[in-house]
Amino acid sequence: MSDCIFCKIANGEIPSNTLYEDNDFRIILDISPANPGHTLILPKKHFENVFDVSDSLVKDAFLLAKKTACALMDLGFAEGVNILQNNGEAAGQTVGHFHIHVIPRKKDDGVTIKSEVFEVSEEEMGRIAKTIFKALN
Ligand code: AMP
Ligand code: ZN
Repeated sequence: MSDCIFCKIANGEIPSNTLYEDNDFRIILDISPANPGHTLILPKKHFENVFDVSDSLVKDAFLLAKKTACALMDLGFAEGVNILQNNGEAAGQTVGHFHIHVIPRKKDDGVTIKSEVFEVSEEEMGRIAKTIFKALN
């Protein structure tokens, strides 16, 4: 994708704070970090989001996210880590190139991920579970 900023960063056409690189991935620091050490795992090939990537690429990407999370803990950047991955505008995806966020967290750091609880009746919960269960099994 010629106009994709993450394609350009992942393939080294635009400079970044690179933390790791191999044939398939580049790991960089997010330019607008939620906390110091906020990291992005970028595949070098362009995929829009999780609906487009192969199972094997998802596996490799999450293994790198795990490795990064462990390093952030070991190095003292984090007391806990959020690993998150947005898919589609409705879910807050702003860059249309599959990526995983690894966000270092400290107790009471004020970073917010969780929203208010959505009230759902027990009956509705049951219906939802049944519908999704059917699709997954
Ligand atoms: P998302 O909302 O999941 O699509 O996240 C996109 C992330 O990319 C945001 O956290 C941005 O701060 C980050 N970002 C956007 N442009 C750049 C860039 N040039 N270098 C590093 N991170 C970027
Ligand atoms: Zn791209």
